Amino acid sequence: MKVLVPIKRVVDYNVKVRVKSDHSAVETANVKMSMNPFDEIAVEEAVRMKEKGLATEVVAVSCGTTACQETLRTALAIGADRAILVETEVELQPLAVAKLIKAVVEQEGPRLVVLGKQAIDDDANQTGQMLAALLNWPQATFASKVELAGDQVQVTREIDGGLETLALTLPAVITTDLRLNEPRYATLPNIMKAKKKPLDTTKPETLGVDVAPRLKTLRVEEPPKRQGGGKVADVAELVAKLKNEAKVI
Ligand code: AMP
Repeated sequence: MKVLVPIKRVVDYNVKVRVKSDHSAVETANVKMSMNPFDEIAVEEAVRMKEKGLATEVVAVSCGTTACQETLRTALAIGADRAILVETEVELQPLAVAKLIKAVVEQEGPRLVVLGKQAIDDDANQTGQMLAALLNWPQATFASKVELAGDQVQVTREIDGGLETLALTLPAVITTDLRLNEPRYATLPNIMKAKKKPLDTTKPETLGVDVAPRLKTLRVEEPPKRQGGGKVADVAELVAKLKNEAKVI
């Protein structure tokens, strides 16, 4: 069984994101970029499936600029067997990505697609759901446990107030939540090995997909700066401030 793992190159989660001076987008020039953390969890899960003999091949796919090759190499170093870059300079929105992944699914024939639940840059949480809809496959989002057995997969999801377990029949789409697993570090020997693994490149036009953005970003703003705190002399002053200034009591 082949598993496809779509991965996105995003601003590293440790970077303090800055807005461009023209407010058109966030600054990505000279900024550390990494694999979306939920996608690392997806790669780890797929690699574990292969190690358990449940999957035969793990294919990582990324849509974006040439620089995404670096992110794909990280997936290969974690343990993916092969990588595909769908190369484009166009700003990709979730629907365009879902259409591209669908085209790759039709070429590659995986039985399972494991995505991150959301990309930490656009926070869209849409691509997996759109992909499942386009493929007409069952989906289980926000997986915190995945159990594969033959053609069946049981997915546990953390929902408000408890856990929900879903049963799906393959082929299916799963999106990962934070607690699914702890991705391994790519070791140096595996980073070296990853350099020799196959990485194919294709283009949206070759896949016959129109990736033109459907939404226009009007303006990007930083959140308002937090006001500094103040000290009060005693409880009476605190209560007075909460009553008269903050007006919360
Ligand atoms: P989003 O819907 O943008 O929050 O992204 C959800 C998931 O879709 C990500 O965690 C990735 O698994 C996948 N994804 C989003 N954008 C891309 C991309 N450009 N290339 C490959 N996979 C992507």
